[in-house]
Amino acid sequence: MKKTILITMTGLSMMLAGCGGGQKAPDKQLEADTVPADFKYEVDAFADLEILRYYVPGFKNLNLEQKELVYYLSMAALEGRDILFDQNNKYNLAIRRTLEAIYENYKGDKNTNDYKEFEVYLKRVWFSNGIHHHYGEEKFLPTFSKEFFADQVKALPANLVPTREGQSVDDFIKVITPVMFDAKIMAKKVNQSGGDLIVTSANNYYGEGVTQKDVQDFYGAMKDTTDLTPISYGLNSRLVKEDGKLVEKVWKVGGLYSSAIERIVFWLEKAQTVAENDKQKEVINKLISFYKSGDLKTFDQYAVAWVEDLNSQIDFVNGFTEVYGDPLGIKASWESTVNFKNIEATKRTEVISSNAQWFEDHSPVDKRFKKEKVKGVTAKVITVAQLGGDCYPSTPIGINLPNADWIRKDHGSKSVTIENIMEAYDAAGAHTGFGKEFMWSDVEVNMIKEYGFVTDVLHTDLHECLGHGSGKLMPEVDPNALGEFSSTIEESRADLFGLYFLGDAKLVELGIIPNADAYKAEYYKFMMNGLMTQLVRIEPGKDIEEAHMRNRQLIAKWVYEKGKADNVVEYKVRDGKTYVVVNDYVKLRTLFGDLLAEIQRIKSEGDIKSAKALVMDYAVKVDPVLHKEVLARYKTLNMKPYKGFVNPVFELVQDKDGKITDVKISYSEGYTEQMLRYSKEFSTLPTYND
Ligand code: ZN
Repeated sequence: MKKTILITMTGLSMMLAGCGGGQKAPDKQLEADTVPADFKYEVDAFADLEILRYYVPGFKNLNLEQKELVYYLSMAALEGRDILFDQNNKYNLAIRRTLEAIYENYKGDKNTNDYKEFEVYLKRVWFSNGIHHHYGEEKFLPTFSKEFFADQVKALPANLVPTREGQSVDDFIKVITPVMFDAKIMAKKVNQSGGDLIVTSANNYYGEGVTQKDVQDFYGAMKDTTDLTPISYGLNSRLVKEDGKLVEKVWKVGGLYSSAIERIVFWLEKAQTVAENDKQKEVINKLISFYKSGDLKTFDQYAVAWVEDLNSQIDFVNGFTEVYGDPLGIKASWESTVNFKNIEATKRTEVISSNAQWFEDHSPVDKRFKKEKVKGVTAKVITVAQLGGDCYPSTPIGINLPNADWIRKDHGSKSVTIENIMEAYDAAGAHTGFGKEFMWSDVEVNMIKEYGFVTDVLHTDLHECLGHGSGKLMPEVDPNALGEFSSTIEESRADLFGLYFLGDAKLVELGIIPNADAYKAEYYKFMMNGLMTQLVRIEPGKDIEEAHMRNRQLIAKWVYEKGKADNVVEYKVRDGKTYVVVNDYVKLRTLFGDLLAEIQRIKSEGDIKSAKALVMDYAVKVDPVLHKEVLARYKTLNMKPYKGFVNPVFELVQDKDGKITDVKISYSEGYTEQMLRYSKEFSTLPTYND
């Protein structure tokens, strides 16, 4: 649920540019708008990061009002950037502004090691929206000297050093230097284990002196267990201690972060004038009211209206949304995306959904565990047009919102797959040499070139639209019966449902897979990844912890073991390198079906003993020798483990009377260029937001 973040990097999916997902038959009246052959995805690379750009297919074919709407929502998406910096750590804006001032005023030698390392550090701060790693949460340290830093700050014109009122430049340096350079100070943005989780987390969601117990007592007292529609307590505020008393400082117009929120509201008001319909107008209207009042009841009304808005082509997320940045999961970071429905690709998910009962009836699980009446979820396939806040530059490939449980239950949720981002990952992965290094032969490499992307998105569709919703629990079984193993088992179940049907002739009949052999591409990739290549994300000596990674190894290892007698899948060694080879795809499919049946039984019966055995036997442990080999081979490819994106640039075209006649989109802005421009054009917050 929630965000699906493609943490990969492994080039797990690799496919040539320009090959969209599935059936992209362009509308007859309109000229097809697909990725140009010369579109350059790669923008920049540094540290463990690679910056890509994404194309927005179909933007040209929107009507003028829709384009304007995308423009205004995109502006609103960029205005919240500083909020996120400040939420992540209270010194982030001071540090970013100092570094930018140095970057723009530097007159020394740019070939020194200090300067080069300084540039990398600045790029990393931009990428992470602060001084902590965007994924690992730990503070990354500058690799230039403290002396270099101090000299550069002192060389700046005094008005460019973001000192506090009355603070001297020397004092400023004294305060900021340990925050940047000392590994022990503010070591983790989010601490999930050990000690007081609030005190030891370096985020800015709680004020000085607020403890974990304070927070739990404060919000615990607010909760009313009889309320069937509870608000998301504490979602949009910082909790601080004033004169020993806990108070919430609400993020709203007139409250904390007001100057940025006012700008967001400014653009939303413009967006409202070109809304596609009344429902969408209501959505925007509710969001504006929420930003003005800070009232979480209004936020829920907005979320309900948003989930009900199914007819608009343009859609967006804008606000305090995900709570991963708070170890207690209460405070939400600010994020935004602007997108529009990929109508052709969404037809694919509608076909899947409308046949949900057929899939349920034909799944290999025991009849007792099947739903008599199943309802597929239609996952929209979208094209993203702008990313902001916590979705930029690192972005999810899928989003499932809203987060409030009662809204999901009573009003449903929207699940989206961001196809143009997946496409960019794929295209960029195609040139890395990853396939050549890890795949057994040209047969596999070519198969994945041809069908890798189509079957990858189809697997995701089946997983999301059908997999999670299939099957039923026995009446007496507690939905939480599988405890700590539940997410690995649940993800395995959804993945297996997708894998099993990917190889079914029904998909050819429905016209959503090109032919009866295409599924082999995803099968091969899945096995290679689960048995071998996903290990590139694990540090030597460590076990597999993350639920999705556990699920993939669980499936791959189980079918490998069970198919051993028939040599269904094997490891082959050539020139001292290990490869995964699939010998029998038909039997492999049967094995996926067998495991699906067993996992559904475990889930339906709440059999935690078997769940534990499966996870422990197959999902957690890593073969240290193979692991070492995979890491060494991966290293030679020089690939970056994490990727992010620059946005396209939108520009209003006006005639001599100021009337808007078009919105232009361009893709030429570089990474540094974009970051510096955002820091000038979309930066209204004070450096210190106490
Ligand atoms: Zn899932």
